Amino acid sequence: MNSPLAQQLGIPTHLQQFEPTKQAALARVAAITPSTYARTRNALDGAVTGLSPYLTHGILSLNEVASAVAQKHRLSYEDKLVFELGWREFFHHAWESTPQPSDILKNMRPMNLWQGKYAEALPADIREGRTGVPCIDSAVRQLYATGYLHNHARMWIASYCIHFRKVHWRAGADWLYAHLLDGDLASNHLSWQWVASSFSSKPYLFNAENVGKYAPQSAFKAWVSRKTKIDDSYEALDEMARSSGDVGAEPGEHEGVQEPSMLDSTHEDFLKQISLLARIHTEKFATNSVVSLLQWRSTQTPDQTIELVHPWAMSERTTQGKPTLRIGIIHAPAHQKLPWSAKRWAFVLQRMQDIVDAVWIGDVGKLALVQGWPGRAKVISQATLHEGYRELLGRMTQLQPSPKLFAQPTKLCGSFTKFYEQAQRGERDFQRLLALAQQSQLL
Ligand SMILES: Cc1cc2nc3c(=O)[nH]c(=O)nc-3n(C[C@H](O)[C@H](O)[C@H](O)COP(=O)(O)OP(=O)(O)OC[C@H]3O[C@@H](n4cnc5c(N)ncnc54)[C@H](O)[C@@H]3O)c2cc1C
Repeated sequence: MNSPLAQQLGIPTHLQQFEPTKQAALARVAAITPSTYARTRNALDGAVTGLSPYLTHGILSLNEVASAVAQKHRLSYEDKLVFELGWREFFHHAWESTPQPSDILKNMRPMNLWQGKYAEALPADIREGRTGVPCIDSAVRQLYATGYLHNHARMWIASYCIHFRKVHWRAGADWLYAHLLDGDLASNHLSWQWVASSFSSKPYLFNAENVGKYAPQSAFKAWVSRKTKIDDSYEALDEMARSSGDVGAEPGEHEGVQEPSMLDSTHEDFLKQISLLARIHTEKFATNSVVSLLQWRSTQTPDQTIELVHPWAMSERTTQGKPTLRIGIIHAPAHQKLPWSAKRWAFVLQRMQDIVDAVWIGDVGKLALVQGWPGRAKVISQATLHEGYRELLGRMTQLQPSPKLFAQPTKLCGSFTKFYEQAQRGERDFQRLLALAQQSQLL
């Protein structure tokens, strides 16, 4: 990309574009040096990996990342990289421990903070990047242009929305989730709750000094937020989070940007839009009709094993064993509740095209009616299934458990610290843990 915007915001080259291939993911893994990562990861232009879109969509697993890095560098639980991979697994552990997947869309614990009513919609000035607070407006521009944000920028946006602008965390979480290429319900919605304090012991607050510390040196002016409402002491900001209402937008330099559109609205519109997008990327099958699926299937070998590939499990096709019929599935009704941007769909559809024989877009409930499928079809479940896929696919076939990197606690750990302690108690030596994880995947 290296557009004027990328230069203006100081976005490192490897965080400007994300090619949806396994090779691209492996090239990122090969570039990791754990000591450099640990030293620089907090900075917006630090050596972060940019692996999250690949992990979220199951193009690569945490085990594959850790094992590949461990071939070149000795890794332990003390390594910052391992620690951060642990955060991802912690959020998934918390999600999988809730009785219903949708439970994480509500407060995990009561929020004992400001007593007023938080807004249910994100104000237009935030959506359009014209709050007058440079670090927020720049982050919104980066998000829309690339589908990616550094962890610090995500924390700043979430904290600003909740504690300064008194927007309910759920409204902010749904919006960010929609635009990220790596949008992951567990990591995203639970991080917002962590910032809000409904999944942590205190609210996460940041100030202009903190922004100045981590802003890219080459683009300081675009981020640094002196003389705005966030330019205050932590004591003053804590007081504000607890007692004042929305601090409002401030006069700023930006006119604002247009928010990219989502693929949502009605069921028919979604099908039309996504079918159009799908055809740009794939000449393969894309329909809502069971009849055409049956016709198409009759041209295939009848005893082939069927693998259903969904957007969170887009692993490489294996070349070993019996030939398998791979069908990509997109369960349309689920994506109307929590819509995604066209950018994210383009990433997903391009990947699907490369790894499946056909793409099914529609109501998976109809697919379940296809005779002879229940029981025969195998679903790759790299991560907990999202948004209505779990129930439907679970009805059709036996879901395979997601492979884990860390030893799993038996009960819900309410904090990352507890989760990480328990993981280490389960297996003290990280190298040995990796060897065991590899072995279990080979069996
Ligand atoms: C408000 C908010 C929303 C977030 N939403 C998402 C989301 O939708 N999807 C998502 O994958 N992550 C999310 N994160 C976590 C984190 O910001 C991203 O995983 C990370 O910035 C991705 O960039 P990277 O791959 O370059 O990270 P790196 O620093 O290179 O880390 C490598 C991998 O470790 C994991 N990781 C690192 N930091 C965290 C963290 N704090 N929490 C969980 N996992 C982590 C990710 O899988 C990441 O890809 C969110 C964080 C916040 C504060």
